[in-house]
Amino acid sequence: MIDAHIHADTRPYEDFEMMAVAGVDTAVSCAHDPMRMSTSEVVLDHIHRIMENDTKRAAKNGVKLYSAVGVHPRSISSDYEIVLDKLPELLENKNVVAIGEIGLENGTKQEKEVFIKQLKIAQDLNIKVIVHTPRTNKKEITELTATIIEDNIDTSLVLLDHVDKFIIKRVLDFNGILGLTVQPQKMTVDEAVQMMEEYGYDKFVLDSDMSSSPSDPLSVPKTVHKLRLSGVDPKNIKKVSYSNAADFYKI
Ligand SMILES: [Zn+2]
Repeated sequence: MIDAHIHADTRPYEDFEMMAVAGVDTAVSCAHDPMRMSTSEVVLDHIHRIMENDTKRAAKNGVKLYSAVGVHPRSISSDYEIVLDKLPELLENKNVVAIGEIGLENGTKQEKEVFIKQLKIAQDLNIKVIVHTPRTNKKEITELTATIIEDNIDTSLVLLDHVDKFIIKRVLDFNGILGLTVQPQKMTVDEAVQMMEEYGYDKFVLDSDMSSSPSDPLSVPKTVHKLRLSGVDPKNIKKVSYSNAADFYKI
């Protein structure tokens, strides 16, 4: 199984062991806002940790960890341009599979500027992006996010994440992929199963987004377990828990 979006830097060593035992052999760890991102150096050190230290910690437990790098909307330092200038070089690393997670949190002018610049870099380099949708004002911010995506990048390059029943209709015709994030306070296993029953198995990847917020490292295996118990065709289970993410990230 692949967990398509996690934050490995916030998690203990034991979580990787638990994931591996439950059958998650691959995950993608994304840039976020683990501390006050006061300067570009802090952001770049955070990215370095994702790419190096966490990859090794996961590998010791048999979990292959890929990285997504970039400037999260909650970690915009005043000198963020320095991070953007470094992105093309960072993206040359074979373990880096996307720019992410990026997007809008509150929809401020600066967030939009940083988001658009990163979408343009991704379009120019033909690289995938992982785009976050927020918990607060989700519908309104997603509308803005979706419009910016449509104006700046081919949607086939986009994983739009944390999709729920309130925003799905707006983004269903994107050519990329949609993330179902099974996480306490975000989406339950049953709600994710319902989304797949209603909208099919071709458009979705599953992820835990495990972070410093309440999280479950076993979100993906628990959802797979529920799909099996519900009698879903194993081919469809494989799509949402493995092949859709593997095809999207080219891993
Ligand atoms: Zn995240």
